Formats: sequence, structure tokens, C-alpha cells
Amino acid sequence: MNVYKFGGASVNSAQAVRNVASIVRRFGQGPLVVVVSAMGKTTNQLELLVPGIPNGEEQRKERLEKLRQYHEKIAEELFPVSSAGLRHPVFKQLDDLFSLLDIATRKSPTGYNFDYDQTVCFGELISTVIVAAFLKAQWVDVRGIIRTDANYREGHVDWEFTHLNVEKSLKPLLKDRLVVTQGFIAGAPGDTTSTLGREGSDYTAAILSHCLDAKDMTIWKDVPGFLNADPKFFRDTVKMNRIPYSEAIELAYYGASVIHPKTVQPIQNKNIALHIRSFVTPDAEGSIVGPYDGIDPQTPLYIFRNDQVLLSILPRDFSFVAEDNLQVIFAAFARLGVRINLMQNSALSFSVCVDHNEVLLAQLRELLGKDFRLRHNAGLQLVTIRYYTQDIIDRIVAGRPVLLEQRSRATIQLVVGW
Ligand code: ASP
Ligand code: MG
Repeated sequence: MNVYKFGGASVNSAQAVRNVASIVRRFGQGPLVVVVSAMGKTTNQLELLVPGIPNGEEQRKERLEKLRQYHEKIAEELFPVSSAGLRHPVFKQLDDLFSLLDIATRKSPTGYNFDYDQTVCFGELISTVIVAAFLKAQWVDVRGIIRTDANYREGHVDWEFTHLNVEKSLKPLLKDRLVVTQGFIAGAPGDTTSTLGREGSDYTAAILSHCLDAKDMTIWKDVPGFLNADPKFFRDTVKMNRIPYSEAIELAYYGASVIHPKTVQPIQNKNIALHIRSFVTPDAEGSIVGPYDGIDPQTPLYIFRNDQVLLSILPRDFSFVAEDNLQVIFAAFARLGVRINLMQNSALSFSVCVDHNEVLLAQLRELLGKDFRLRHNAGLQLVTIRYYTQDIIDRIVAGRPVLLEQRSRATIQLVVGW
């Protein structure tokens, strides 16, 4: 039993879908579940159609129409009209889904997180209808399998219920059929839809792998494997062949974008090997995350986060920053859902590094402004280096100002300007 995950970039055109089919045919032996994301940048487009987002009716229609054309064009290339003039049944399915999407985007807003999930879920529903038809696979609505609570946009998985659904509804299908299902989306109470957080399809594949006791899980990506840095930020990357589960968890935690942070735990728990392979060069070996003792090859690992803000929070009454103050500060961050990428405490101020978001910064000021003075420095880069040496640090910093530094034996984190 294996689980494959194909992300948006691997299904962004008819040619790309054909490539997915060829990979499944060549490498997908035995019972296989194929988890697919929305095509290309569809989720970003759907985010603009969530009820409550300022959108004139004209613009709403235009955006919807663009999405329809994008998907129909792919379907037309994959499923040519028959010589008798018959259109493939997938077009009727797409029509139905776009009618439902139209209705979803015309609703009056009820609450952003809820409305978001009821809207963006169509990206995965649409892509999987096309991919399943092309692969002649069984299409499964994952909302009937993976169940979460009502924490929309970041659903918490109900593992017990999901396990039962996998046993009852998914396993029997896998006896003699290839299954295609959606990443990212799930079923929530009251027949509603939830999502697992952006880029959550990796996590979907991990949940299903865990519940199915899969032998392997494979994420097919546009990079040759797990690299020691994101090639968008760093030129001389090294592909890692083997990565211990614990290392992959650390890297995802620090912000490595190769896998979704929640992906590793469910598969580690069952000792399932996680393969990361390239859909561009599928014959190449890729990387394996598994029960190893150390990374191979031994190499420094880099994680860069741009557009960071360093916030200094100082009590107005010049008191020390201690438990009582910290409690107030953390409560504000938790309430707004602001993720702290790095924090440091001194006697008179508390510093945090966060992703730049003007709206959230303004709300933080509002919540904390009475008791604290807030200073901030924007346009910074957070650099995390695992297995650093002084020489490496010097090369990466290269004379730039270092505003904050934290080091442990294996890891150094630096907040630097340009
Ligand atoms: N389509 C979703 C997103 O773009 C989920 C995913 O790609 O994993 O975030
Ligand atoms: Mg994606």
C-alpha cells in the first residue's frame, strides 16, 4: 500500500497531468492512493472569491470565469470530443462543480474562516475530478474520510473517526482500484468542509498513510528532493539522500518549505518512509525521510525567511519583563494567531521576530499599546543554520547588520538586515 501526493505545480496543465499519469503507471505498483492539490495557483484565486472579500459583482464573475476557462481548457486537451461528437462525462461534473462554486461565492458572509473553507475547497474537488477521469481511477471525496473539528482553516483531525472511515470506506475500494482524492480539505461537523492550512495536502497524504499503514509515502515535487536550502534563496544547494524524521520535523518547524510542518509526525509514528522525488526527473533517486541516525550527506542546512519584522515590546512602567508581563504578551499573540518565529527576553524588553503583516501588527498595537511601548524594525531576514561553523556564519552574514542572534549547539538563528 502506497500513497502519492502531487502538488499544484505538478497538475498545472494538460501536459503536467499526462506526466502524473505516466509516473503513476510506471512507479505506482499495488494498491495506491493518489492525493492531489488544486491546479497551479487556483487556491490563491479562490481566496479572492471568498464571500466578504471586497469584490464587485463584475469582478466576481470575471474571476470565476477565468478559473472555469483555465480548467476547461485543460480538460479539453485531455478529453477530446469523440468522432461521434460526444463530450467526456467529466465536463458535466465540472459544470456541476462550477455551479456550486458560483453559489458559494454569492452567499452573504457568515464568518471569514468558515466561508473560506466552503469556497477554496473547490480547487481540489475540481482538480481531482479531472485527474481521476484521466487516470481512469476511482474518485473519492476525502470529506467523507478525513474528519476534523469546526476549527475552520486549520482543522484538528479527529483521528478515531478518520480511522473508522478509512477502514469502512477507503480500504475496500483499494482492493482492486486506483484511488484519487483531494489534499488539503476535510469533512467538518454538520456536513460542512474544513481545510488543514495552506499547503496542507502533504498533511492529508500523511494522515491517509498513517491510517492505511502504508509502506511508503511519496511527495512528487518540482525539486530533486530534500535540499539543504530553498533554491529560491540559495544558489549552491545540496540534495540530501537520507534525513532522520526528527531532523525533518526541526527543519519544517524552522520554516523549510519542502514539507508541511504537520506531515512528519503521523508517518514517523508508524515508521513509514517518506520519499521526496522530482516529477520532472522521476527516474532520479530523490530523498528519503526515515528512521536514520543522521543526515546523509553531512552538510549545513539553511532556512531563510524574508520580510520579517523584529518587534521590541517594552513595559511602559519600566518594570522587568517577567511572568506576568509575558502572560499578557503571549495572550495577545495567541488571540490574533500570530506565529512567533524567534523570541528573546532581556530585563527591560521582549523581542520577537514575526512575518510582516500590517493588519496583525496594528491589532497587536491595539491590544498591547496600553501597557507596552512597541518598536519595530521591518524588511529583515531570519536565517536559521543547522550544523553551522563560524566560517559559514561569516559568509552568510557578509557584513550585514545582525539585530539578534540565538545559538544552540546545532542551530544558530540570526535576524539580519540588508
Ligand atoms: N491547494 C492548497 C494550497 O495551495 C493545498 C496544497 O497545495 O497543499 O495551499
Ligand atoms: Mg501547493
